Amino acid sequence: MNSRVAQLCLALLCCVNVGYAQEVPGPGGKPATVMPSVLTVPPEAQPSPHFNAQAATDAYLAQIPADATARSNAYFEGGYWLILWDFLVGAVIYLVLLRFGWSAGMRALAERLTRFKPLQTLIYWTEFMIVTSVLSFPLGVYEGFVRERKYGLATQTFGPWMGDQLKGLLVNIVLGGFFAMLLFGVVRRVPRTWWIWGSVVSIVFLAFTVLIAPVYIVPIFNKVAPLDDPKITLPILSMARANGIAADKVYEMNASRQTTRMSANVSGFGHTMRITLNDNLLRRGSAEEIQSIMGHEMGHYVLHHIYKDFLFFFVVIVSGFALLRWSLDWSLALWGERWQVRGVGDTAVFPLVFLLGSIFFFVLTPIINTQVRTAEYEADMYGLNASRQPDGFAQAAIHLGEYRKMSPSPIEEWVFFDHPSGRNRIYAAMRWKAENLSLFASTPNH
Ligand SMILES: [Zn+2]
Repeated sequence: MNSRVAQLCLALLCCVNVGYAQEVPGPGGKPATVMPSVLTVPPEAQPSPHFNAQAATDAYLAQIPADATARSNAYFEGGYWLILWDFLVGAVIYLVLLRFGWSAGMRALAERLTRFKPLQTLIYWTEFMIVTSVLSFPLGVYEGFVRERKYGLATQTFGPWMGDQLKGLLVNIVLGGFFAMLLFGVVRRVPRTWWIWGSVVSIVFLAFTVLIAPVYIVPIFNKVAPLDDPKITLPILSMARANGIAADKVYEMNASRQTTRMSANVSGFGHTMRITLNDNLLRRGSAEEIQSIMGHEMGHYVLHHIYKDFLFFFVVIVSGFALLRWSLDWSLALWGERWQVRGVGDTAVFPLVFLLGSIFFFVLTPIINTQVRTAEYEADMYGLNASRQPDGFAQAAIHLGEYRKMSPSPIEEWVFFDHPSGRNRIYAAMRWKAENLSLFASTPNH
């Protein structure tokens, strides 16, 4: 909520996540999993002449206990409301900064401290990040800490969690400050066409952030190392070779430092592009499940999803800047004087930019989700073909269902889901299995 830049990068990084699953710590510190962790193929999903994809899907879904479904529905539906609350709380904060002259005051302080324009921008940005972080702190604590703990997704106590928040704030100040200086430099130099050049600077900056993220940003929060377990890496690297991927390494990340969720992702691009599995997945996932997830991640890689996302976000960013130019002119003509904002080249305009940006992205929620979800579906299909593990993939979908609603209505899925729903993922796996039954004929008890 605090940084559109960070949010954009996050959106880009997250959109190639396979997803997560949770593990709830039980009494005595031993993890008590909500969903069955060992791969059990229900009789309806075993190969037979009567194999039916729908019946197999229903049989998999029937393995999920009712209380687990209720819990994950509650968690996921709570997330719908948080989208609204994040938006509303952000809007109120930005309006307060404008209406009560705080933004103009922060600008005045920056001007008193230095005459050098780019430094003024950096100082303003730092003030802005700190003030908005403090004002949104209660909601941030609820969303990122209290709620995550309540649903058994968090592994951190408050101290380390707070430490991560402060690190995140620092990253936002440094990276965002650099971006803000670039952007205001552009706006001041080309006051008529700033929105076009601003779009270009934004997309270049986005590319730069995605490029450095796996190497310089992720390690600030987590330990990342090449995975060194032949039992896991040999089948994965074999799959990579079969699919023409020149990889000799897979990375592992200690995500269990923050969360119990399982995940894997493709990050970076060019020389920094890599596939990373988190330790929760490696510890809890069956071999079949890990292979099905690797197939999915290889799909992102081979289908160039990161580059396609750039193209998508380029369109979003250019449209956003065009709307921004128009709406900034309009609102500054109406309230600029009252808010003591001198124009688009004045850093005091920041809260207004964030307000307009948050309206834009709030309205765009279903469009962005649908773009991301469509790529995820493609990766699912690729992964099934590459790994040939439909039952492993069904198991993965069930694990993800621990915190993500399994069976939403179609409209719900369209608006809120950035991955296909669990039900649809299992059905796709069983449909694939129905068309490839001969692969399983020799091992009826797979
Ligand atoms: Zn994915």
